[in-house]
Amino acid sequence: MNLVGHVAVVTGGASGIGLGISQRLAREGAHVAIFDVNGASATEAAAAIAAETGAQVSAHAVNVTDRVAVDAAVAEVAAAFGTIDILVNNAGIELSQSFVSTTYEQWTRVFEVNMHGTYHCTQAIVGGMIDNGWGRIVNVSSSSAQRGSRNMTAYSASKGAMMAFTRSLALELAPLGITVNNVPPGFIETPMFHKAANSGAFGPNALENQIKQTPVGRAGQPSDIAAMVAFLASPDAGYITGQTFGVNGGRIPT
Ligand code: NAD
Repeated sequence: MNLVGHVAVVTGGASGIGLGISQRLAREGAHVAIFDVNGASATEAAAAIAAETGAQVSAHAVNVTDRVAVDAAVAEVAAAFGTIDILVNNAGIELSQSFVSTTYEQWTRVFEVNMHGTYHCTQAIVGGMIDNGWGRIVNVSSSSAQRGSRNMTAYSASKGAMMAFTRSLALELAPLGITVNNVPPGFIETPMFHKAANSGAFGPNALENQIKQTPVGRAGQPSDIAAMVAFLASPDAGYITGQTFGVNGGRIPT
């Protein structure tokens, strides 16, 4: 899984799963650029990862829904590190709310960040991968899109769109040396999970209940997702594209 010499962009890399992915890719030797709407957290995360790994890690205050900001950050990364050849579309927001009470503005906001943000970052970066004849795109979706989640219809639908996007884009880019895969996490203990749990989305004693429902008998951690992403981003994974790799402690056997 050696990623020495590779340049990775991780969206939403300042917290939770994205932070774990950024750490892991840097440990494997990649230069990592964190794109996150929370610029202060991104700066803190980049400094900590650089100090731990010795890798070059940069922070960019970017809202993935803002194409101008995405393009500017991509240009900064290319100038500093060279061509971006790994993209992890991880930035996302959840909405724990009944469909009946979901407004069009809320619905659109979830799609804008989760799906349109993925579109903007991929569009901005894929050209360089095509020029190089090599690239890895990993989209972090959700097990909610695989099995459905009560009171998370907007979120699940946006993640299902990411999964469909992955399959079709993989077919288009495969002859160009670029793989596109999808990692739907199950329950992973992050700030997002705690926010949804505190809102009552998973019922009382959310953490204990989620663990009970998970065959491996523990909470998933960002490092569990990061291990799969690091493999899919590596040269070893060149014959794998258009696939879905659930990391969910056995909750969704396929
Ligand atoms: P998190 O809230 O801890 O981290 C999300 C990060 O994305 C934050 O740093 C946030 O600032 C950033 N972000 C949000 N909106 C952004 C935007 N518009 N532009 C740029 N950055 C933005 O969440 P997490 O649990 O680490 O989730 C990461 C991804 O994994 C999300 O896409 C989420 O839907 C998915 N996921 C998480 C779980 C889970 O159990 N935690 C399960 C399934 C899927």
